[in-house]
Amino acid sequence: MSAQERIWDIPGGIHPAERKELSNRTPIQQAPLPARLTLPLGQHIGAVAEPCVVVGERVRKGQKIAEATGFVSAPLHAPTSGTVSFIGPQPYPHVSGMLAPAIVIDSDGLDEWIELTPHPDYRHMDSAELLALIRDAGISGLGGAGFPTAVKLTARPTQKIHTLIINGTECEPYITADDLLMRERAAELVSGIDILVQLIQPEQVLIGIEDNKPEAIAAVGGACSERSYQVRVFPTKYPSGGEKQLIQILTGVEVPSGGLPADIGILCQNVGTCVAVHEAVVHGKPLISRITTLTGEALARPGNVEALLGTPVGELLEFAGLDRSKLNRLIMGGPMMGFTLPSLEVPLIKTANCLLASTAAELPPPPPALPCIRCGECAEACPASLLPQQLHFFALGQEHEQLKAHNLFDCIECGACAYVCPSSIPLVQYYRAAKAEIRELEQKQLKAEHSKQRFEQRQERLRRAEEQKEA
Ligand code: SF4
Ligand code: SF4
Repeated sequence: MSAQERIWDIPGGIHPAERKELSNRTPIQQAPLPARLTLPLGQHIGAVAEPCVVVGERVRKGQKIAEATGFVSAPLHAPTSGTVSFIGPQPYPHVSGMLAPAIVIDSDGLDEWIELTPHPDYRHMDSAELLALIRDAGISGLGGAGFPTAVKLTARPTQKIHTLIINGTECEPYITADDLLMRERAAELVSGIDILVQLIQPEQVLIGIEDNKPEAIAAVGGACSERSYQVRVFPTKYPSGGEKQLIQILTGVEVPSGGLPADIGILCQNVGTCVAVHEAVVHGKPLISRITTLTGEALARPGNVEALLGTPVGELLEFAGLDRSKLNRLIMGGPMMGFTLPSLEVPLIKTANCLLASTAAELPPPPPALPCIRCGECAEACPASLLPQQLHFFALGQEHEQLKAHNLFDCIECGACAYVCPSSIPLVQYYRAAKAEIRELEQKQLKAEHSKQRFEQRQERLRRAEEQKEA
């Protein structure tokens, strides 16, 4: 291995049972067309989209149904043809069981596309045109985070990106959607990378894949054999797929605390996002479906499906042979970073890479939490070199300044600390709650400062008006 191909290690990390064999043995299947689709207006990080259709309107597959509102936002498109039957609050995939604004489409069964505008000759297009195509296609990161891709591509406009990293790590147990995508759609993946390369002109492209995906490694390696892109294979360890962790593994460089990869000239994109970019630019197709892993021991036929966004989760699980009598806990995402869905009535959204229908024996409820014994195992496991037990104490005491000083916001909520904790303390729950509290307080402070500023400006205007009157 040359120095250039060197792989670095990250601190901490764990090796939970992978359980990927449940779903990675069969090809990707097309999920059935549902009779009704529910499209939440907020399926990405940022401002929710604004409907541009009305109830009763007929829409065709691929038609824009909601516009992005603001810089960090993404539009939505009809996943099939049919009639808009409702716009308003609908069940949303969230642990709280909350409702959120959505557009409901009753399918007409025709699956009739709008006229598409493909750009197979995109090499003649400039960056602004390519970015507009990606933005208009409603693409947001498909690895789970959901940040609008066009925004991420321009996060630091003045900073030269020298390294483009393609994330095919998929380190979380059970999930195999990216693995199957790389095996079956390697040519489309490489085409998507070509488009990103034209956009940002990096000096090197590194494709990171864990060594537990030999078929994907072979497929991607074969598809980019005529390019300078480097497939970098590294040992399986959770959570190597975290953006900052993967950058460290492939380049040896650490993203500074509180910083973005773009600050050090690096940009990361998930493999599924690259395929979506290919579809948007080369074929003119917006993001209306995704590959999702359906897994867990409550399913008779686990595997991966390409499903339309908005498909009810319950219908997807029925397709995979759900045995409701066995289902104990349904998780959107994986067992480490996913969250429990309180109902099967929620729709599939852009960020949903996995539905895990687990039995009680498979994922038993954790035992009651015991006091911390200061064993330090959590710190050993933390990939971000944090002090999880300290963060826990500060979170209990709501010591916000200490939490910030101990880099709470560098925590990627991977759950490695809680996984090894002998006292079964649900550490990540404390960190999530503390982050939410701090963000809320900061928002309130910001608002109060704005109000104070506006008050002072008004007082100043009144004072000047008085002075002019007297003069
Ligand atoms: S692993 Fe659990 S018990 Fe051990 S120090 Fe960390 S929080 Fe405390
Ligand atoms: S959840 Fe946060 S504190 Fe715990 S191991 Fe992961 S990064 Fe570290």
